[in-house]
Parts: sequence; structure tokens; C-alpha cells
Amino acid sequence: MNLRLILVLLLAVTAELSATAALAQDRGSVDPKPLPPLANPNDPKLGAKELFGRKVLPALMPARVIGFYAKGCIAGAQALPINGETWQVMRLSRNRNWAHPDMVALLERLSAKVHKDAGWPGILVGDMSQPRGGPMLTGHASHQVGLDADIWLTPMPDRRLSRDEREEMSAVMMVREDRLDVDPNVWTPGQLMLIRDAAQEPSVQRIFVNAAIKKALCREAKSDRSWLSKIRPMYGHDYHFHIRIKCPPGSSECESQPEPTEGEACSAADLTYWFKDEVIHPKPPKEPPKPKPPMTMAQLPPACRQVLAAPEARQ
Ligand SMILES: [Zn+2]
Repeated sequence: MNLRLILVLLLAVTAELSATAALAQDRGSVDPKPLPPLANPNDPKLGAKELFGRKVLPALMPARVIGFYAKGCIAGAQALPINGETWQVMRLSRNRNWAHPDMVALLERLSAKVHKDAGWPGILVGDMSQPRGGPMLTGHASHQVGLDADIWLTPMPDRRLSRDEREEMSAVMMVREDRLDVDPNVWTPGQLMLIRDAAQEPSVQRIFVNAAIKKALCREAKSDRSWLSKIRPMYGHDYHFHIRIKCPPGSSECESQPEPTEGEACSAADLTYWFKDEVIHPKPPKEPPKPKPPMTMAQLPPACRQVLAAPEARQ
């Protein structure tokens, strides 16, 4: 076997390993290794994540959302500053604090509201999108068009975190060990206010939380419960929750999602599926699932090629 082939195989293996990693909890490094250049960036079988994952800055184009949350890209993305009065961005090494300007404005507004309502010093912001969106080398099927953001369910500490701490610090697990409810030792009214304040933003379309958290919100929400319709149970989402906003006005290339129509969805029947034993404790598959081929450029909207090719917008 020649050296080149060995290198290619090695890269393929590490790419596969890292694709399963990088959950919200995974630690990063303040000194991440730069990705090696691609041997053949025009290979039609190449995962689009390899191309988008190597972009460090957004496309120098007006803000433009192209495609669907889990199949698309964004031009003219804006960075959420890593420090605000009432927020801090975590895992800076991932360079995923980019989004549509509407999302950036929403997070700034939301953090100030949570500071007031919940009395938290502020919020900790996890993954948003890459500078040009698109599929990612690790984690997340969505977060591709700058309209998704993960917020930690841990309050921001009352001080500025160091770069190291932002890579190393862990969020707090909110779900009880039996997975049937939240952990009363860590769940406080603050988490409810944070999620409610996010859901009450008119541009927010849905919010993903663990089913145990949805159950707690249903139980604890007071008179105004209309926002509960936006709260959707999802696997994981027990350390953080996920905000998804609608296509911004005038984004004709943005593919929207139907509005949730199930009402509060708080009845036992609404949540039964999520508390089934096989969902809470899934059996490991007998054979490891075959890795799916990665999404290629041909599967993304054609305009995403222009976004990739555009010059860098210096921030
Ligand atoms: Zn997310």
C-alpha cells in the first residue's frame, strides 16, 4: 500500500469518528489543529461538510438564507460577539457563532430579557452555524442556514469565562437519572423563564427540548400557555435547548417548515412515545449501522456553490 493511500484511508477513518462526536458537551481545545487541505476539492463525491467546514469567514454578500435547516447554506452571516453584557459564547474553537442577522439580534434581545426575568447574569450560547452555514464535520444535521441556535440550560456565571473554560466547562444535565422527569436538584424556575422567553419571540418557530423538560414546562407553566405549542420533544437536548426561527421576511430561497399545529401537546398521550422504555433506553444495534454517504454539493441548492466561492467578508 502506498503512503498516499494510507493517508487517505486514515483521513477517512478520522472523519468518520469525528462525525459521531462533538455533542454540545464535548470539550474543545483553545488551540485546534487546522484542517489539512483537500486533495481533490472538486471530487463530486466529496462531503459538502469538508468544504463548508474549512471556511473561516462568511461570504461577502448580502444576508441570504438558501435552502432548508438541514440542507442549505447562508451568505452574509453575522457573528454573535463572543462577549455581551448578558451572554457569552462557548466552545470558541468550533467557530460556530454565525447566523442570520435576525438570529443574532434575537439572541442579544433574549439574553437581556432572561437577565431581567430569571435574574440570571445571562445566557451561554452553544453552536449556531458555520460562517457560510452548510453541513458540519461534527454533530448537527440542521444548523445549516443560520436560523438555528443552541442555548445552554446552565446560567452564565457572574464573570467573564476564559477561553480555556469555554472549551472545558460542562453544561448541567437537567434530566433525572431515570429520564422520566427533570432533576429537581438543578431544574429551577429560571430554566422555564428562559425557554418561555425564547418561545414568546414571534420569529421563533419551534424549540427542541428533551421530553422530560417538556413535561416539566407543561406542569409548571402558568396562565399564559400558548407558547407551549412551540416546544417540541426531541432526543438529547437535556443539557441545552435549540431555538429555530422562521425564514426571515423576503428570503425567497429559504425553505420554510409548517407551523406546529398540535396545540400545547401536554397530555400524557402526547408524550407517551418519548417515555417508552425502548426510546429512553435504546438497545444498541446488533450490527453497527452502515455510515451514510455524506451530503454532497449536488444535494445542496445550486446557489450554495456561489456562497462557497465568494470572497471573505472581513468582520
Ligand atoms: Zn441544536
